[in-house]
Amino acid sequence: MKDKELGISDLPGVGPSTAEKLEAAGIDTLLAVAVSSIGILTNEAGVSDSVARKMIQAARDMLDMGFDTADEILKKRQDVNKIKTGSLGFDEVMGGGFETGAITECYGEFGSGKTQIGHQLAVNVQLPKEQGGLGGKVIYIDTENTFRPERIIQMAQKVGLDVEQALKSIKVARAYNSDHQMLLCEKAEDLLKTGEYNLMIVDSLTAHFRAEFIGRGTLSERQQKLNKHMHTLLKLADMYNCCVMVTNQVMSKPNVMFGDPTQAIGGHIVGHSSTFRIYLRKGKKGSRVAKLVDSPNLPENECMFFVNMSGIDDKEE
Ligand code: ATP
Ligand code: MG
Repeated sequence: MKDKELGISDLPGVGPSTAEKLEAAGIDTLLAVAVSSIGILTNEAGVSDSVARKMIQAARDMLDMGFDTADEILKKRQDVNKIKTGSLGFDEVMGGGFETGAITECYGEFGSGKTQIGHQLAVNVQLPKEQGGLGGKVIYIDTENTFRPERIIQMAQKVGLDVEQALKSIKVARAYNSDHQMLLCEKAEDLLKTGEYNLMIVDSLTAHFRAEFIGRGTLSERQQKLNKHMHTLLKLADMYNCCVMVTNQVMSKPNVMFGDPTQAIGGHIVGHSSTFRIYLRKGKKGSRVAKLVDSPNLPENECMFFVNMSGIDDKEE
């Protein structure tokens, strides 16, 4: 990437005051401008549509964005890292673990293990690579007040991490409504820029949206906002090679007589923006079942795992 040498002040139409406004909005690299939209730039920097269009075009030209050959993409794929889950079966289903540079959506009914998986990943990502982590820190956006440091302590002890350090490496923000949640995700970019963070969790992605937008009339507005939110997360995953894990509830589908009568909230917007989708449910004898239902390169597959006192495992403790 060439944006080390060139900056946003090299773009046409960007004088000192525009540069300042863009920076204040967190759009402070060529890449950020290149993946931005005309609407965002006109809003944030107060420039006209045509100036915004030129800025985006120029940033894309400078960055040499466009087509890559497949071997170049393969090379980029080598930067993709994986975070292990604690369960060998689960890792296998995921092709080795939760991927960086992608969004993985875990959806399922209450108590199916979504939040527990979030906690486990927040611990495991801190492990060195040889032990299934990335030696990295965590951004945790908690919308339901279910983040529990006590669980982190239990899981950290099990994998042999320094407990104090493990807690210090997780930055938690409580989101009070959907706007706040979206803002926090945008702000998270400041942390990601340090290069120390490899994992971002949004638990739950959809709960606020679901509660705030009730009824048909507001559905399209909700979907529009969710779409913008997913776009932010995708951008962060891609730009910072970060693993983004989001959780999602299910609702019952009326009129379903055969098969599973539940479906994920957020419909196709969330489903299509997620790179991997995992459906979680409670299994027999206290077990949990994780089923990979959507992935660009892995087969549909499922496994059984347990949520123990010490965390996620193949077997019950
Ligand atoms: P929701 O949709 O309500 O957020 P969820 O899918 O996030 O649900 P989790 O909070 O991940 O559900 O799972 C809760 C379950 O995890 C509990 O019902 C329990 O079975 C298990 N669990 C939580 N803490 C422990 C613990 N300390 N020891 C063993 N099992 C635990
Ligand atoms: Mg939960």
